[in-house]
Amino acid sequence: MRQRIGPQCGTAFELAAGHTLRVIDPDGEQVADLIAFSRASPDEWLSSGRTLDYNNTIYLTTGHVLYSNRSTSMLTIVEDTVGRHDFLYTPCSPETFSIIYKTTGHHPSCFENLAGALRPYGIAPDRIPTTFNIFMNVDVAPDGTLAIHPPRSKPGDSITLRAEMDLVVGLTACSAEMSNNYRFKPIEFAITGPGETSLPLPKP
Ligand SMILES: [Zn+2]
Repeated sequence: MRQRIGPQCGTAFELAAGHTLRVIDPDGEQVADLIAFSRASPDEWLSSGRTLDYNNTIYLTTGHVLYSNRSTSMLTIVEDTVGRHDFLYTPCSPETFSIIYKTTGHHPSCFENLAGALRPYGIAPDRIPTTFNIFMNVDVAPDGTLAIHPPRSKPGDSITLRAEMDLVVGLTACSAEMSNNYRFKPIEFAITGPGETSLPLPKP
C-alpha cells in the first residue's frame, strides 16, 4: 500500500528482512531523510562512515549496500531512477535553521520529526546519526566545498531499498528550504514483501 508523508512531516515503521521499501517523490525536487536501526537493538544503526568506507564513493545508487556501525548489511539499493542522494549531511534540525538559515522562532525539521516518530520504538533523539538523504543533491568542489542544489528527482521518481535485517526505519519529507528548491512537498512510500509483485506506481 502506498502511504504519504505530508510536507515537513515524518514517520517511522518496521521493515522486515527481505521486504523492500520504495520511496517515491510524487511532485519532484523533494528530499526524504531516511534512518534505520536494527529491530533487535538501537545500538546498531545505519552508518554513513561504514557505508562510504565499503562502497568507496559518496554517491550511492543501484547495487550499493548500506552498512550499520557494526559493519553488517542493513539495506541494499535495488532500484534508483535518480542516481543522486546524499550521505554526508545530518538531518536538518532546529540548530540547522538557527545557525545556517538565521531563523528565529520554531521551524519544522527532520530531526524533530524523526525523534518524535522513533520515540515509540524506544529510540532516543541522541541516537539519531547522519541520515541517508534520498534525492538530496550535493556537489563537492575540488577544494572540498559542498554545494546543495535542487534535487534531480522528477515527479514519480523513486528509489527502492531491500532490508537485509529486521529494521526500524524513520523517514521524512525534508523541511529545509535549500534542499528542496524552496518548496515543501510530500513524500510517498510503499513496502512490498518478499515474493510479492510491487504494484505499478502510477505517475501523478
Ligand atoms: Zn530535512
